[in-house]
Amino acid sequence: MMPAHVPRILQWLLPGYVWRMPGREKVLHLTFDDGPIPEVTPWVLDELAGHEAKATFFCIGRNCAAHPAIVDRIRAEGHGLGNHTWDHPRGRRTPLADYLANVSAAQPLTGTPAFRPPYGSLTRAQSKALRPTYRIVLWDVLSGDYDTRLDGARCTRNVIRHARPGSIVVFHDSLKAEARLRVALPAVLAHFAGQGYRFAALPFAMAG
Ligand SMILES: [Zn+2]
Repeated sequence: MMPAHVPRILQWLLPGYVWRMPGREKVLHLTFDDGPIPEVTPWVLDELAGHEAKATFFCIGRNCAAHPAIVDRIRAEGHGLGNHTWDHPRGRRTPLADYLANVSAAQPLTGTPAFRPPYGSLTRAQSKALRPTYRIVLWDVLSGDYDTRLDGARCTRNVIRHARPGSIVVFHDSLKAEARLRVALPAVLAHFAGQGYRFAALPFAMAG
């Protein structure tokens, strides 16, 4: 199981990736991977709107193609979009050319330089090939909402314990994560809003 918090030494050793945003301002960058899907993503957008929160959605190209109206809504409501590949291959198990084609297939649907590799998995060659074109975004805080052994309260605590100014926090707008997300997202929004934080999209994930 991945730790909820990425050690700073690892962030320092892999400087080609975006782990968190610099600065001391009380701002969090919530990110949602693996959507958009009608069962979960519109609910996430409603929750964000209730706190005037902006976030970034790392979308699967295949899901964007199936649900273009949700993608339009994400854009229209001022959130960021990022590429999360066409159908979620694992980098370290996928030949370079196949992986790059999978990323390229999703790019017309997301359309910004933001890219997050599924599972955080990339070979050195994949990373090197993608870096001139994309900002490769990982995270410093995992909610763990995809982990079926956890409950929503635990996912909430993961974020509250580890997030700090500039943190990039991972959630999933997926069926697998839904039960935990529906507990953790409202709790995280309320907690950090109460602490004086605002919630912003990643600036390089904004269309146009
Ligand atoms: Zn994913």
